[in-house]
Amino acid sequence: MIRLSNVVKIYNEKTAPVFALSGVSLSVERAELLALMGSSGSGKTTLLNILSAIDLPTSGTVEIDGANISTMSEKELTAFRREKIGIVFQFFNLMPTLSVLENVMLPSLLLKKSEKQSASRAKELIERVGLSHRLHHQPFQLSGGEMQRTAIARALMNNPAIIIADEPTGNLDSKNADQVLELIRTLAEEERKTFIIATHSKEVSEIADRTVVLKDGKVVEESVIAEK
Ligand code: ADP
Ligand code: MG
Repeated sequence: MIRLSNVVKIYNEKTAPVFALSGVSLSVERAELLALMGSSGSGKTTLLNILSAIDLPTSGTVEIDGANISTMSEKELTAFRREKIGIVFQFFNLMPTLSVLENVMLPSLLLKKSEKQSASRAKELIERVGLSHRLHHQPFQLSGGEMQRTAIARALMNNPAIIIADEPTGNLDSKNADQVLELIRTLAEEERKTFIIATHSKEVSEIADRTVVLKDGKVVEESVIAEK
């Protein structure tokens, strides 16, 4: 599903270079739930940005679902991202003036799908994440856990093969975090989605199939922690 080979990322290469990733090689299989751990500054977000085709590596190759992303144009990358990858953020990144339903529909409308088709799929997904009773609420009327579940439904909207989440429980209390993790675990199993989650939380590594630890932009530990 995903193959990274010797990926290097240097920020500000010409002025004051920062080596964010120093030769990361990593494979992730379909339907795998991978926890990416490591202290702050170890390169987790940089790696996720590359995995989600938001950013390109300085060198090395990135193959996602059979496509080599380093050879794509900006336009191709944008299209690729919208179709193949769902992204979940620590601070939810919902549109504040839109309802739950409208937020979830958005990625589908960006692919120029009809309102009707988008609304019907969005409603299914909102039910899937347990928020049918919140359809017309706006983000400020939701709890943190509800906002994150809305964001997960939005990430699933275009039926991507891969979901990338950066500290998805980092802003939730433990009860809401548990609910979100349970949902992620269920989706990985039942929908056969590949999840890559950057996290500080031990709870995330407990639901993961595998944990990879980054330190100073290198993989320093890789462990199989659960059999499916
Ligand atoms: P993490 O998510 O594990 O905290 P990051 O990937 O955000 O780590 O950062 C890895 C390293 O790259 C850090 O030293 C950070 O300061 C640096 N870095 C991250 N983004 C940028 C950027 N846009 N420009 C320059 N340096 C950056
Ligand atoms: Mg980070």
